[in-house]
Amino acid sequence: MIKARNVAFEYNRRDNNNNVVSIERALDGVDFDIKPGEFISIIGHNGSGKSTLAKHLNALITPTEGTVWVDSLDTSDELNTLKIRQTTGMVFQNPDNQIIADVVEEDVAFGPENMGVPTEEIWERVNKSLMTVDMLERRSDSPNHLSGGQKQRVAIAGVLSMRPRCIVLDEPTAMLDPAGRRDVIDAVTKLNKKEGINIILITHYMEEIIHSDRVFVMNKGKIVMEGSPSYIFERAPELEEYGLGLPAVTRIAHILRNGNINIPADVFSPDELVSCILENLRQYGC
Ligand code: ADP
Ligand code: MG
Repeated sequence: MIKARNVAFEYNRRDNNNNVVSIERALDGVDFDIKPGEFISIIGHNGSGKSTLAKHLNALITPTEGTVWVDSLDTSDELNTLKIRQTTGMVFQNPDNQIIADVVEEDVAFGPENMGVPTEEIWERVNKSLMTVDMLERRSDSPNHLSGGQKQRVAIAGVLSMRPRCIVLDEPTAMLDPAGRRDVIDAVTKLNKKEGINIILITHYMEEIIHSDRVFVMNKGKIVMEGSPSYIFERAPELEEYGLGLPAVTRIAHILRNGNINIPADVFSPDELVSCILENLRQYGC
């Protein structure tokens, strides 16, 4: 679905006279293959290159060196840009910058309207997209009356209504409260598991990577670790080197295991942890 080979990207920093004063190599030797239907998370501390990588995935920027292909289309060929943007939708951090209309359903209809989709089909798509993110009953509301998490789900529905095969979300939960974050992650997970849409989720909240098939850890413009969430969580010292800490549930699970309490390796969510603790208590006859 997406392939990157030896990708580097450099930003030119310019002074007031537009002279280049320094060059920032934000990506350096990035290689990966993402299969259709995969759910990939990308984590890394601030400035590690996550957003720069995300922008390559729908040709917002193109590599300084190397090549990115989306559905076999080279992103640096301008003739491919439109097709690539229809294949890969983007969701950003701030929902207020992504919602334009005064009514929820009009906002979700905006994308397909611009694509020239027939009116009847537009409303079918709007219905289905709002239903998928659990926002159908707010269809006639003003986005101003929604919480951050609800707005972000409307933004996701807006991308969904354009029927992309892949959605890239760049820290979609960074501005949300815990409940809003959970709802957005649930909606994103559902898009992947139920609709089969490729998800690339960029986050710095470790606990948000647990539903993904594979995780890329970024540091200084490179992918420095790659594996399943459990593979990543088992490597706490290496993560710390890259400025990343384990989520609270994983840390607590480690402590319990050291105390000989039986917690399986694939327990990542608070609910799973609580059930395991209760199960242990039952076995002890409590
Ligand atoms: P992340 O999303 O992981 O925080 P970014 O991709 O935004 O990282 O940034 C990677 C590096 O590129 C950082 O060192 C950042 O300062 C630099 N950078 C990002 N955007 C620009 C820009 N528009 N001009 C110059 N440097 C930039
Ligand atoms: Mg970023």
